[in-house]
Amino acid sequence: MGGYQIPGHEMAGEVADPGNVKSFKTGDRIVTQIMDGCGECFYCKNGLYQFCGSLKYEGRTHAEYVSLPEKCVIKAPDDIPYDMLVLLGGDTVGVANRALSQLGIKAGQTVFVSGAGPIGLGVTALLKHYGAIVIVSEPSAFRRDFIKTRVKADLVLDPSRDNIKEELYSRTENIGPEIIIECSGNPGAQLNALELVRCRGTVMFCGENYKGLEIIPSNHIIHKEVTVKGAFYFTAPDFRHILSLYRNGLDVSGLVSHKVPLKDAPYILDQFVHGLTGKVILHPQE
Ligand SMILES: [Zn+2]
Repeated sequence: MGGYQIPGHEMAGEVADPGNVKSFKTGDRIVTQIMDGCGECFYCKNGLYQFCGSLKYEGRTHAEYVSLPEKCVIKAPDDIPYDMLVLLGGDTVGVANRALSQLGIKAGQTVFVSGAGPIGLGVTALLKHYGAIVIVSEPSAFRRDFIKTRVKADLVLDPSRDNIKEELYSRTENIGPEIIIECSGNPGAQLNALELVRCRGTVMFCGENYKGLEIIPSNHIIHKEVTVKGAFYFTAPDFRHILSLYRNGLDVSGLVSHKVPLKDAPYILDQFVHGLTGKVILHPQE
């Protein structure tokens, strides 16, 4: 292994050289999905590469050129600008769509989104597209302001200052939201989601947590009949569904806070790590 690895897992571009692949030609516009499954198992045969037991991750997309296997490349339409395609074909919108397509969101429904990082932004943008009333909790002041002004969250709360339960209950007839989408991966926030959701409601986990979470199944799930779900990545059919949402008015342009040349990637990644960006578009140097 080398001393460093090229990061990046969201990309829109065009085919420079299809190699032996017959289904793409030079100049085809594409997006990528980085789940490189075995191609043989039940999930891979159904295009659900993210569930493959011998999954490898592709990526390295913060570059001018990247070599990818055919199954990781998805054809994109010619009439959508790259700045939009990279959002529609990335996991910010992809995970949001995969989560919401499991939830049956209704217009006017109050949904609580925990965390306003990239996935929280995507989830909020899609919820607004479906006409939901979105309440967001987020500790970073920059992210709170960004999701309020750019993605049009209806109410944005600061967990260090606001009483989240009181705010949610006062807007949901004192029973809590029917749907909570947890996008931070913070164990405390995940536990809060299970505690704040109403009986018979659903908690959708999108934020990654490899550390673990101590729950009391009797209190958090059984006696409340809570449904716990997860959403992981996206598939080629998911991307085509997202394109249809876009053509029906889904606006994700507000997710982008910066557009910078590739050479400024180290600076902007540092800003991102400190919670000071929305989505960032990197573009090749001219
Ligand atoms: Zn497989």
